[in-house]
Amino acid sequence: MKPAPFSYMRVKSLEEAFDLLEEYGDDARILSGGQSLMPTLNMRLSAPKVLIDINQIDGLSDIEVNNGKVTLGALVRHNQLISSDIVTKHLPLISKAVPHIAHHAIRNRGTIGGSIAFADPAAELPAVAKASGFIFTVKNRNEERKIEAEDFFLGLFETNLKETEILIAIEAPTLQQNEKTAFVELSRRQGDYAIIGLAAQSIVENSVFKNVRLAYFGAGDKPIMAKQAINLLEGKSYSEEVVLEAQKALEADLSPMDDLNGPPEMKMHLARVITARALADLIS
Ligand SMILES: Cc1cc2nc3c(=O)[nH]c(=O)nc-3n(C[C@H](O)[C@H](O)[C@H](O)COP(=O)(O)OP(=O)(O)OC[C@H]3O[C@@H](n4cnc5c(N)ncnc54)[C@H](O)[C@@H]3O)c2cc1C
Repeated sequence: MKPAPFSYMRVKSLEEAFDLLEEYGDDARILSGGQSLMPTLNMRLSAPKVLIDINQIDGLSDIEVNNGKVTLGALVRHNQLISSDIVTKHLPLISKAVPHIAHHAIRNRGTIGGSIAFADPAAELPAVAKASGFIFTVKNRNEERKIEAEDFFLGLFETNLKETEILIAIEAPTLQQNEKTAFVELSRRQGDYAIIGLAAQSIVENSVFKNVRLAYFGAGDKPIMAKQAINLLEGKSYSEEVVLEAQKALEADLSPMDDLNGPPEMKMHLARVITARALADLIS
């Protein structure tokens, strides 16, 4: 299938992009890696009149570390995340997650900003953003806003971004002492979207969990923090019993949807399985 006709505008500055967003409103879409946008156009799930290509704007592809936080430009490609020493050292959850995203060709073009803005509930990076407490910088002509990952994802492919705003950067806190990460994903084939997955982060001291964060993907209409399971684990020492209690608590946290991968009961079962694996991994 071919997309509906559209105009293509390549901008060199944010100001130019803001001008176009103001002029065309909901008829415009930002084009980053194009790896989700172009398929939705080709399948005619979306028919914007104008694509605004932001790839030539300087300064949106940098990775920097400063004062306990890593700043990732919105145009940082998935493969750039994999090869970055800063990410490997300070943001291991990203390093564990990104190899699960699609395949090389897609990771060469796809961007972290595009993944976050697209907000696919089965995508890896939105869940990592919640588990690691990322903060997003979004901008339009008049203001700049900082939005915590926790408040950014509103529902199925729906975010807090306004029509005139562009996601500019992602701020990620570096790991604290004794902070551990675990990433578990179940998919039919390597590179497929997840059936279900879990991005987990916690301080672990003498096998005791503190500041636990469990963000599930493929488990609802957006990445989901498992609040009951988190409360249950907080301050507890790892044991088989505690894992069982956390698995039980998940029933109050998750209500997976019936989809092509299988019924909700199967997903709940898999959620329990990956929770046990992730907790064991955090402790190891
Ligand atoms: C075959 C295939 C398999 C895939 N498998 C996976 C997978 O397993 N896991 C996964 O997470 N992803 C997967 N993807 C998607 C891929 O990761 C994309 O790279 C990602 O979802 C979108 O990034 P992008 O840069 O390509 O964004 P684009 O496609 O350019 O844009 C996506 C959406 O976000 C908006 N947008 C983009 N950038 C910005 C910005 N800076 N500010 C505001 N809005 C913006 C666009 O307007 C558009 O609506 C797959 C894609 C394909 C084609």
